[in-house]
Amino acid sequence: MGLDTCVLLSPKMKLVIVESPTKAKTLQKFLGEGYEVLSSKGHLVDLPKKNLGVDVEHDFTPEYDQVPGKKEVITELKKAAAKAEEIFLATDPDREGEAIAWHIKQLIGDHKTKRVAFHEITEEAVKESFLAPREINQQLVDSQQARRVLDRLVGYKLSPLLWKKVRYGLSAGRVQSVAVRLVVDREKERQAFHPEEYWEILAKLSDSGDFEAKLLEKDGVKIAIGSQEDSDRIAAELKKEEYLVSRAEKSERRRHPYPPYTTSTLQQAGVNVLGFSGKRTMRAAQALYEAGLITYHRTDSTVIGEKALEQIRNFIGKNYGSNYLPADAIRYKTKVRLAQEAHEAIRPTKVELTGEKLDVSGDEKKVYELVWRQTVASQMLPAVYEQVSADIQAGSYLFRATGSKLIFDGWERLNRGEEARSLPELKEGEKLKLLELVPSQHFTEPLARYTEATLIKKLEEEGIGRPSTYAPIISTIQDRGYVSKEGRALKPEDAGGIVNDKILVPYFTDVVDLSFTAKMEEGFDEIARGEKNWVELIRGFYGPFSQELEKAEESIDKSSMTTIAETDEKCPDSGHPLVIKLGRYGRFYSCTGFPECKYARPYIEKIGMSCPDCKEGEVIIKKTRRGKNFYGCSRYPDCKFASWKDPRPSKPETPSETPSP
Ligand SMILES: [Zn+2]
Ligand SMILES: [Zn+2]
Repeated sequence: MGLDTCVLLSPKMKLVIVESPTKAKTLQKFLGEGYEVLSSKGHLVDLPKKNLGVDVEHDFTPEYDQVPGKKEVITELKKAAAKAEEIFLATDPDREGEAIAWHIKQLIGDHKTKRVAFHEITEEAVKESFLAPREINQQLVDSQQARRVLDRLVGYKLSPLLWKKVRYGLSAGRVQSVAVRLVVDREKERQAFHPEEYWEILAKLSDSGDFEAKLLEKDGVKIAIGSQEDSDRIAAELKKEEYLVSRAEKSERRRHPYPPYTTSTLQQAGVNVLGFSGKRTMRAAQALYEAGLITYHRTDSTVIGEKALEQIRNFIGKNYGSNYLPADAIRYKTKVRLAQEAHEAIRPTKVELTGEKLDVSGDEKKVYELVWRQTVASQMLPAVYEQVSADIQAGSYLFRATGSKLIFDGWERLNRGEEARSLPELKEGEKLKLLELVPSQHFTEPLARYTEATLIKKLEEEGIGRPSTYAPIISTIQDRGYVSKEGRALKPEDAGGIVNDKILVPYFTDVVDLSFTAKMEEGFDEIARGEKNWVELIRGFYGPFSQELEKAEESIDKSSMTTIAETDEKCPDSGHPLVIKLGRYGRFYSCTGFPECKYARPYIEKIGMSCPDCKEGEVIIKKTRRGKNFYGCSRYPDCKFASWKDPRPSKPETPSETPSP
């Protein structure tokens, strides 16, 4: 045997590199011998922590540093790469994954590397992708790089301004600032809202059974009752009238299933159904994806692949019967930003695997079941209701009663349906007996505060969020103390209001402008499609931005920045009026004679409850050093009571605005 043949016969090792150890384990199972799967354990390089790391003078070239603690991983990867016959970079199938692959390629040397991408970690999908490896897509890398650099420029340039003018430790981010603005503006709308009184009158009527009807019209015109006097007068008239069924109609109504989940709708359902934050839902989804149980969880597509559709339809036919199966598969319309990324909705990889058969953690099981139900339900027939509507004439007044009855549950067999409201069989011309009139007082209500779910929905509608950004945006604005949660509702904190109203809106119009931010996001998409140069996008932003920055530096007067409200109180030391200001640890009273007069005292926000620990102090709202609210005892440091949760006995939570799927 010659030397040459000997080399040919030696074992050929193929190296596969992914970004997570769990994913590596799942992959190794499918690829078997001949492949070594290693993990980079996240990013290997990133922009530096301590300085800007972007050369604004030279085409915004990013200066990447090795991520601390990654030395060993890099050595291991390099060693394995040197021995490998072929190298496959199998990072996640999106722009961030493409960028990680690109960085790995540069670190281990520019040879023999191929890119493979798959949207589910199943044997079939993985093997298919290895049959068709490709080169790294530089457009996707550039798009990711542009986002990273732009976010870095905004964050690193704005934050020091906020430290100087408002409070040390504050920070501003590009998309986050728009999210804060939405929350701040909603709060202003709510404060400016004047509730108006109105009255409703229900009639309890009797036929073959009792039912309720609502007063709707007088003389054919919609009725508006604004006061108790009016309500009493109308009720007195109504008592004397005869009640006749003037119209009774039955109709059939279909409730269609929802499309399968995208990242945005999955996170909304996580909030509404499970009470999970977006971050928590995504953590569970990530684990499920890496274990090969669901398709990639960062997607804005509602498409289900043809093979999966067939499996889902078979499953429905076998388990629920063919009467639950539409004649054809249902194909949901989806917005495609980019052909390379036009992957699938979030769905289980094996539909036969129901939640109870899974051996995973609690959160993962719950999220899996959400995904499973939504996917299967999305391919089932609509639910059918019999809808009954009846008009009841009482003199010149008109009441309406409605009822509905489920005839066929369809997809609602898997997901919560509507509550049925029964109505007796009513015939036109029939006379009814009035049992009781029930007037009730109401007030018009302002728009509800955003919840995490409705804010994600809004960001998506405005074209501001992307599958990879919803959860980080929402958690960042809370971590930074700009927004806090009351139950499920998001409300602005003082720091959020000040930074938005006094700095960002007046001085950085574009940064907090919804359509401008949406345009930047589109710009990233254009870069990914190869229609735009990333440096030009950044340059177009950075020129005006640095001018705004200079102007803000010069014109913002620090002393007026942190004043939240004036008071009627006079300073006990100097007699000057006192104001409420925002300090390092929240609000405090300050003398307008400052700096000559140093009088100040803490602003204590009581919640009207004595301390559950010591029973002597009062529970007050306090702030952490990072500006996050918590509940503490007024006797601190004698009493150490502290809680993130509102200790008051269960306050009603804000009902969600989105229908829970
Ligand atoms: Zn004073
Ligand atoms: Zn206490």
